[in-house]
Amino acid sequence: MYKVFLKPKKEESLLRFHPWVFSGAIQKIDGEPEEGSIVEVYSSDGRFLAIGHYQIGSISVRVLSFKKREIDHAFWMERLGVAYDLRCTLGLANNPDNNTFRLVHGEGDCLPGLVIDIYGRTAVMQAHSVGMHCCREAIAKALKEVLGDGLDNIYYKSETTLPYKADIENECGYLLGGEAEDFALENGLRFCVDWLKGQKTGFFVDQRDNRSLLEKYSRGRSVLNMFCYTGGFSFYAMRGGAKIVHSVDSSAKAIWLTNKNVELNFPGDSRHQAFAEDAFKYLERMGNNYDLIILDPPAFAKHKNVLRNALQGYRKLNAIAFEKIKPGGILFTFSCSQVVSKDNFRLAVFSAAAQSGRNVRILHQLTQPADHPVNIYHPEGEYLKGLVLYVE
Ligand code: SAH
Repeated sequence: MYKVFLKPKKEESLLRFHPWVFSGAIQKIDGEPEEGSIVEVYSSDGRFLAIGHYQIGSISVRVLSFKKREIDHAFWMERLGVAYDLRCTLGLANNPDNNTFRLVHGEGDCLPGLVIDIYGRTAVMQAHSVGMHCCREAIAKALKEVLGDGLDNIYYKSETTLPYKADIENECGYLLGGEAEDFALENGLRFCVDWLKGQKTGFFVDQRDNRSLLEKYSRGRSVLNMFCYTGGFSFYAMRGGAKIVHSVDSSAKAIWLTNKNVELNFPGDSRHQAFAEDAFKYLERMGNNYDLIILDPPAFAKHKNVLRNALQGYRKLNAIAFEKIKPGGILFTFSCSQVVSKDNFRLAVFSAAAQSGRNVRILHQLTQPADHPVNIYHPEGEYLKGLVLYVE
């Protein structure tokens, strides 16, 4: 077993169960682990601290356990079993109205680098670390045992999430089954999921609760769903009784999926129209007719060094919405950038509101749903932020 020894006093964050070891904290390594190897971590005076996956980069070890134990079948069974029990407790698994939920949310489920989303009888598994990539077959085996007859397919989809420098093959493909039906059921609405080529694991599972809230505000409103992807928010608005719903995304494929989803849920319903267009272009040319606007852009900042630009982006985007939304309008605005804090996001939206000079009230402060839990020792896991605003 490879052993990583920390510099004196660098064990403190691990003693507080933070699951990352940064490269700067390491004194020496016994042996030459490859990226993805299992390593044990010790304090400078030789105390065992944790076991985890070794990786190359600023985070050197992602912790799998703070107890000295094997990372074997029993380990994966235990972790996946706990994750599944939690989703049962949340009423998400085995729910006739909902077959779509996140089963494993990385550090939030004490499995750093692993994401598993469930769509009916199909699991889509994504590795964000070479360590999890190396364990994919073992994880798939345990997953099938935990979910039993409820699971027919496991699709592995990691081509965009693994470190690009790692020399890895087999980033995508079925680890179990292969004849997957391609729709997700969320709160009684149906969505086509393209897990082969779609974004993330094929669907944005993390907006489920926020979409439900939007439904309650939709009656009689003219809705703009900006950055719609597969149209998630649009169908909740339609079911909630919206007068018109316009969905906009720059990706033609996303608009194609959105239109397909209209046919699945509201065939022939003329209230809905979709536009493949850049957000800023559309916002500039649109009129002042919308009284419910959703802004759910992609992560504007993926790294800390572009934070300033990202905050400018949020400010500009929201400023146009404040300028154009009808009096009495409701704005649902989001940021999914992990490096943008709740306070920074609120500040960007505040600046945008001030620019418009309108009276704006915060009605709700939104976050990610309970199947994307935040590990209390890893606050970095909190990434989705949203505000629902009333604009006079
Ligand atoms: N609201 C969606 C998820 C949005 S993800 C849901 O509930 O599922 C962000 C989306 O923004 C992606 O679909 C991406 O294609 C789109 N996008 C990225 N840049 C854009 C731009 N400049 N203009 C419009 N859409 C854009």
